[in-house]
Amino acid sequence: MTGLSARESPLGTFTQSLGRLPALMRSMDPTWTLRSLAELTAEFVSRNRITAFIWDVDGTLTAYHDKVLLPAAVAPFAALRAMANVRHAILSNAPEWRVQELARMFPDLPVIRGYAHDGAILGRRLLGDHDSWTADELAARLAAGAVPLRKPSADLVHLTVAELGVKHAGAVMVGDQHFTDIAGANLAGIRSIKLANPAPGSFPLSIRIMQRVEAIAYRLRPRSLRRPHSSHSP
Ligand SMILES: [Mg+2]
Repeated sequence: MTGLSARESPLGTFTQSLGRLPALMRSMDPTWTLRSLAELTAEFVSRNRITAFIWDVDGTLTAYHDKVLLPAAVAPFAALRAMANVRHAILSNAPEWRVQELARMFPDLPVIRGYAHDGAILGRRLLGDHDSWTADELAARLAAGAVPLRKPSADLVHLTVAELGVKHAGAVMVGDQHFTDIAGANLAGIRSIKLANPAPGSFPLSIRIMQRVEAIAYRLRPRSLRRPHSSHSP
């Protein structure tokens, strides 16, 4: 396994997160917890003045590394996509091959990638067949030491909000995992929606174990680590 693929693996995410565990434990609270995407209605979006969604994919819109939307996600996702003045972007911790697949699966939605390099944050946007970086540029930047950012990176969320051209106050991250999707949103100061993963059985055992650890940590964390939803009540 190369250094890059190790960093892009679920285990890599987990080990990278261990040092930040105290901060992540304080950042696990979503603004809203919904049982399914069907609860995320146009009325909900309008009432809460949501102007942009930043979507996780695996475990949120699709089963693990699947090429099609979960059946229960099709209609609600289409309804949200049809709303005027609401923008959407994809933000996944998946490896490079999957990110390219996501760009093909959602050809009219920007798939955002971020990289840390020499103290700077570099943004990359895939839209259908178009990639803002050429394959040569990607290879050269990685060879020069650029490191892909992963949720819960606040920098990655800031970058995505900027790419969407909205204010932080209107942006909402949607995902199935506290330590990546929800913590990323909280660390960047945007709102978040925690959805239950409708297809947990599709995930590899290593990820299922981490999801279990995360769920237990969320349920059992001491009150001192729980964050009030003061500014984000529905
Ligand atoms: Mg997910």
